[in-house]
Amino acid sequence: MGRKLGPKCKICRREGEPLHLKGSRCDSPNCAFKRGRDYPPGMHTWRRGKTSEYGRQLRETQKLKRTYGVLERQFRIYVGRAERQRGNTGENLLVLIERRFDNVVYHLGFAQSRSQARQLIVHGHLTFNEHKLDIPSALMSTGNIIGVKDTEKSRKLIKDNLEFARARKLPEWLEREDDALQGCVKMLPSRDQIVTPIQEQLVVEFCSK
Ligand code: SF4
Repeated sequence: MGRKLGPKCKICRREGEPLHLKGSRCDSPNCAFKRGRDYPPGMHTWRRGKTSEYGRQLRETQKLKRTYGVLERQFRIYVGRAERQRGNTGENLLVLIERRFDNVVYHLGFAQSRSQARQLIVHGHLTFNEHKLDIPSALMSTGNIIGVKDTEKSRKLIKDNLEFARARKLPEWLEREDDALQGCVKMLPSRDQIVTPIQEQLVVEFCSK
């Protein structure tokens, strides 16, 4: 499983907005943005001038990849698939990425961040339709059931995360049974149900160059 390592807060500062990459810290006063460190990382950032159209498209594409933790190769696969589907390519792309197993686990509140969701999946703490599935990029479909491995350790881990996530709103396309520690994909997400602040048109324009 490829993943991007390095300081996560610097990624948010580069994109100019909180991307919620670190779980509990993101809601605490320690978030770089709440401490006033909302400027880009590195020296001489004050020298940077007005962003070009190409720059805006590039930044939006990077923001999308970094929010969901998707690397370039996988991202290109999603773009190709979104282009082949009917309808608006940008919306298709967002819906595809939103259906990833790690993203669904995060939205269900079983993990505090998408990167933690990836780790829990790879370590086998979660199940898919009552079977083991350790592939974070697997795409979920309508009717799929996401559960927790029936061991004390797994259940405790997920329960603790769920307590933390209760304040987060569950997307309309998902359903959760808190006592059973189980979630279900009620339907595929529509564009208006995806709350990630991405201007997908800029991403499509960048990818078509
Ligand atoms: Fe981003 Fe979270 Fe760091 Fe804030 S605490 S800058 S939201 S990763």
